Amino acid sequence: MIFKNNFFIFFIFLIFFNERVFSHCIDYFDAIDPEAKRIVTCPLVTEDSSKYLRRSSSSSSDEDESKIQLVEFKCNNATEETCNKVKDTFFLAGKIISKTFILKTPILLSVDYTNLCIVKPELCDLQEGKVVVIGSAQSAREMLFLDDDGLTRYYPQSLVKQYQLKKHPEFATYDIIATFNSIVNWRFPSDYNVPIQPKQFDMLYIVLHELMHGLGFGSNWKNWFLTGNKTPPLITTKPDIVVTSDKQIIFNEFKESAFDRHLIFNSNYNNLTSITVKLNDFAKPGTKFNNVTDLIQSFINSRQSLIAENMNNIFTTFNSLSSYPKSCHSERAILETSIVPFQNGESISHFDQSYINTPDFLMTTIQVPGKTLSDLVRQSGGTSPIGPRLQAIMECLGYETKRNLTPYRPKLVSSL
Ligand SMILES: [Zn+2]
Repeated sequence: MIFKNNFFIFFIFLIFFNERVFSHCIDYFDAIDPEAKRIVTCPLVTEDSSKYLRRSSSSSSDEDESKIQLVEFKCNNATEETCNKVKDTFFLAGKIISKTFILKTPILLSVDYTNLCIVKPELCDLQEGKVVVIGSAQSAREMLFLDDDGLTRYYPQSLVKQYQLKKHPEFATYDIIATFNSIVNWRFPSDYNVPIQPKQFDMLYIVLHELMHGLGFGSNWKNWFLTGNKTPPLITTKPDIVVTSDKQIIFNEFKESAFDRHLIFNSNYNNLTSITVKLNDFAKPGTKFNNVTDLIQSFINSRQSLIAENMNNIFTTFNSLSSYPKSCHSERAILETSIVPFQNGESISHFDQSYINTPDFLMTTIQVPGKTLSDLVRQSGGTSPIGPRLQAIMECLGYETKRNLTPYRPKLVSSL
């Protein structure tokens, strides 16, 4: 009799909670401001599997097809002719990506082409030595998945869509959001009969670079604890926090991005994940702090802040780390650690600048003006703008290619 009752309760419990299973997601709203974000509990939804069948049957093996679709396009401060040229550029970049990566589910873009010097004048304030932002792209939603080493990491929605899971965290409307500055002296692909000017930027080159970030080429190793000048920069992976209604902070460990899974120290080839594990001795998941200041102060006072301080030294020393996706490529790619002081979104999230003259030129930090994408491919002796190291990193992240037909896939995590 007791057994029966228990069984009944368990059954009710399952039914009740099966309806309300959530996954952990982060939404981004502004391509040029990664701080404009919100943690959301996205429900697990069941996909109509016939949708995937319809898609795969309708998708011919047309080599000229782009699986990257410009779904929303805002074009301000520009003529209709220019707006169309911008559109064409995204289509061409989509074709290049679709040629290398087998995208089973289309990737949806929201693009804003606008004069950033009007919208965000602080970005164009050259007197303060700030660089004009020419363009940026960002995954619109990141989702927490469980990797085979037992750690959970954030995956870009564009990649999760390719898994074609029957049950998956609910998708945001767009996969990638992008903003490009209309004040830049752009050279568009349709201007091919006019030579590029020394100060012009080839838009196709920049768009392709940014879309790779949107597809998941980027690190969570950043200066998250903004402490002013009181302490040296503290570089950690992303502190996962939830703000409660009474402004308390719940800390849920430091989290890497999918890209971070393959990072190694060049000095000993050890994985950087071992440092994330050490940083997580700071506080157990679910630890509450009174407010953000309390969290920052507690971290500064902790032993782990010394690790974060040391990471700042490493990340501002040339040739200190690489991305080494062993199972996808036999060579590693040295990452950008020459920028002093450390710069969020630039340091680590790019190839070392020395790759600019190699087939892996695309993901260096400084993009050169006065050269078109095809100039750079030709000069470097490559065959595609997506170089061998970049392709390997994206393959090991989980993107399918002709030579990587069964890519790695992490497991879904959900909580009640
Ligand atoms: Zn970049």
